[in-house]
Amino acid sequence: MTDLRQEAAALAAAARRWLEREEAGGVGDLAATAALRAERREPTPRGGIDLFGQPLPEAPKAAPEPEPSGVKATAVESPFDDRLDPADVTARAEIEQASAAVLQAIATEVRACRLCGLCDTRTQAVPGVGSARSGIVFVGEAPGADEDRRGEPFVGRAGELLTRIIKAMDDAHLIPGVPLTRDTVYICNVLKCRPPENRNPLPHEIESCAPYLRRQLAALRPRLICCLGKFAAELLVGVKGTIGGLRGRVYRYQGAKLIVTYHPAACLRNPSYKRPVWEDMQLLAREYLSD
Ligand code: URA
Repeated sequence: MTDLRQEAAALAAAARRWLEREEAGGVGDLAATAALRAERREPTPRGGIDLFGQPLPEAPKAAPEPEPSGVKATAVESPFDDRLDPADVTARAEIEQASAAVLQAIATEVRACRLCGLCDTRTQAVPGVGSARSGIVFVGEAPGADEDRRGEPFVGRAGELLTRIIKAMDDAHLIPGVPLTRDTVYICNVLKCRPPENRNPLPHEIESCAPYLRRQLAALRPRLICCLGKFAAELLVGVKGTIGGLRGRVYRYQGAKLIVTYHPAACLRNPSYKRPVWEDMQLLAREYLSD
């Protein structure tokens, strides 16, 4: 018993240190609490946990807010692909292998794309990074200056936060047996080229670029898609609305489940979003693990 108490105290101290380091970055306190629960092998309560590690009431299945207007029936009702059993590691490995060449071919097309004016101002196109290994795909908005320079999505400040979120999910063992890194998830954007001055994507740019994303998703056959911010959510869910109104429920995209959360850049601007984002990652994990 004493040993157990000592171990718990050591873990709590480590979690506190981690919390202090990560606090500026956004998700550390929440992630540290979850990691601590995981180390103690305490199951995460279905409703998630609050800042102090206390169970939150379970989120109602039906959304508390009125249904956003214009939800595409197919986005909500298309059947979940039962073949994508999370426990079926072989199936995922096969999908990863089969998708690699297709993703490569799409990337080659993207790099040569001249469908909209963004090709004139880009340094390089940014097709996507990662793999189909875990079956989780994060979809952002568009490359920024760092991504445009390096040709890889989410490598600037917002990208560092996304990478930390993925690591926190892994450290907390949110999905036991499924390692989560930038290599085992896939990360891409609605637009593959940077809009000048990071302005919002224009409708004709989204229309030109969306087929690349749809083809990437078809190749990846994800179990779970996470839309980061409004542009990914509006495109893939097929609704207009605020992230506050869209998050907290589960949609369907083709054979995948889909959730919506705040964009990491929004979290950097407004740290109060870190808590809902961490709750959304717990929702992601629960849905990944359930039928
Ligand atoms: N923001 C995005 O939406 N995507 C990136 O790749 C980087 C920042």
